[in-house]
Parts: sequence; structure tokens; C-alpha cells
Amino acid sequence: AAARILNSGVRLPPLPTIRELVKLYKLQAMKQLSQNFLMDERLTDKIVKSAGRIDPRDIVLEVGPGPGGITRSILRRQPQRLMLVEKDERFTGTLQLLKECARPLDLQMDIYYEDILRFNIEQHVPDTEQRIHLIGNLPFAISTRLLINWYADVAARRGAFRRNDTCMTLTFQKEVAERICADLGSEQRSRLSIMSQIWTEPVLKFIIPGKAFVPKPQVDVGVVKLIPLKQPKTELPFALVERVVRHIFSMRQKYCRRGYSTLFPPEMREETTNKLFEQADVVDTLRPFELSVAECLRLAEVYAEHLESHPEVATYDYRGPKQPPKCLD
Ligand code: SAM
Repeated sequence: AAARILNSGVRLPPLPTIRELVKLYKLQAMKQLSQNFLMDERLTDKIVKSAGRIDPRDIVLEVGPGPGGITRSILRRQPQRLMLVEKDERFTGTLQLLKECARPLDLQMDIYYEDILRFNIEQHVPDTEQRIHLIGNLPFAISTRLLINWYADVAARRGAFRRNDTCMTLTFQKEVAERICADLGSEQRSRLSIMSQIWTEPVLKFIIPGKAFVPKPQVDVGVVKLIPLKQPKTELPFALVERVVRHIFSMRQKYCRRGYSTLFPPEMREETTNKLFEQADVVDTLRPFELSVAECLRLAEVYAEHLESHPEVATYDYRGPKQPPKCLD
């Protein structure tokens, strides 16, 4: 059968469209898995193009391939290995079909039916000889949690980030994408902006209108490329920085000292907060969203120094007994 020449990269043998496959395999989107499928080949190609150059020796890990729209666009770029991590086994038929189709392309395609939040990439990619690209039209429900997990990996240089050239090209709800990339002074500046910009350089590539997805989500979607910084802005442990930034932003409309002060028990709160803001040379009456990344990091550094003489403060929780972790927003 005649092969179709597609936008970029190699030809794939003729395949039913994603829309036809979804119908054929009766793949009704499941809300609890945040399933919104992209059917438009130009858009899936554009997402993969945003990832930049994919060399023939590279590995691409796609999160949540679903029926395989983005997967096809990745296959056409012919990495050496394509790893798919999908939680929903109903996609076995469509993904297996793609695997058959990719056979002549001389690449390795591995499908893992697992939760990406538990996926241990070091187990499947034991060495660091190949560059890894992380690509995915992420399920909204876990996108920020996954991103924060990956920042922790960047900070610790583990998992997909043992090499310093692993890039992420991911989709988020438009507002979340804007928050990730928001500069100082922007209305969207938030905790997620600071956390993102400490370890990566995020770039908002383009917006996909909600109507391009089936089913249509309530919001538009932003495609963000995140490039881990070769020189991270801090060597402090991830958990400590995360804790300090979370406290600073816990009272968004108040002076930044208010949230920060809740890191300390009441008997030392005022005095320690005053002392540490002075040491960090940060104006304590700025609002959290008026702080630069460098100022947040200085506040984290003086906090880390303070812990050396007051280690008991590290586990202090002003809300009392431990609360379940909250999603970043
Ligand atoms: N890539 C497809 C596309 O663009 O049309 C589907 C994207 S859909 C927004 C998200 C996909 O992630 C779904 O296929 C869903 O089953 C999968 N998914 C949801 N939660 C997951 C998890 N924890 N681990 C791996 N995949 C997950």
C-alpha cells in the first residue's frame, strides 16, 4: 500500500485516523483519567516539533499516549527508542497497531501500562548514554504533581535527569502554563512560577484551543517546553526549597513575611522572621508575587542556616498534625 508522506520526518504506512480508531475500539474518554484526545495531526506534529531536534540516537518517553496521535508524530521523527507510559490498558489495540506499523522503522518501541507517577525510568534506562525527551499531552489531574516530582529529580540529578540535557515538552491547562512561565510583575506569578524557574527555563510555545480536543475540555491548553538549567540556581535540597516557597505563597495577598513567619513556632516567630529577612536582604513588606526567584532563594538559604542551630524547626507545622499534601497552584 502507498505510504503517506507526512509533514515532517519519515513515512508511516497508511493507518486509520485517530478518530476512526477511537470509534472502532469504542474508546470513550474516561473523565477520571483526564482523557482529552487530540485528533489533528498538524497539532500533534507541532507539539513534537516544539521539543526541538530529536537525534536518531535519542530516547523519547511519551506520557499518556492514549489512542496514539502524538505517538505517530514522534514515530515520524524516528528516535532510537520510544517509551510509552499509559495507565489505561484499553489502548492496547491502538498502540499495538502502531508498534506493528513502526516495525520497518528500525526503532525500539516499549509500551508500559503503568502510572507515570510511579514509573521508575532508571530501571528501564539503566545507563545515561542516550539523551531523553519527555513529551506528553498530560492528564490535567496529575500534571502539576508530575512536574513537581520531575523538578525534585532535576534537583537530585536522578531518574530522567541524570543527564543535564533532558527536556520536557508538555501540555497544561492554559492558566497553569501561564503560571509556570510567569515573570516577576506578571499577574500569574505564583508558587509554580518560582519552583519552575529555579530548576528550569520554561517557554510557553503555543496555545491549543479547547475545541481541538475530544471531548472538549473547559479550558484552552498551553504547550510548555521546560529546559533544565545547566547551572541550577541553588544547590539546596529540593524539599527545603519547596517548603520555604510554599510557606511564602501561603498568604498570597499579605506581606511575604506573614507566610514565611509560619515556618517558625510562635515563641520565636517575630524575632526570627525579622532577623532572617534582614540577613537575606529582602523587603518583608513585598507581596509574595513581587519576589524574584533570587529573593526566594535567599530566604531559603537563611532558613537552611537557621536550621543548623535550630534543627527542631525543620519539622514544625503551624497547622498542627500533618495534613495531606496539596496540589500546587
Ligand atoms: N496523548 C493522547 C492525545 O493527545 O490524544 C491522550 C492525552 S489524554 C489528555 C491523557 C492520557 O494520559 C490518557 O491516555 C490517560 O489514560 C493517560 N493517563 C492518565 N493518568 C495517567 C497516569 N497516572 N499515568 C500514565 N498515563 C495516564
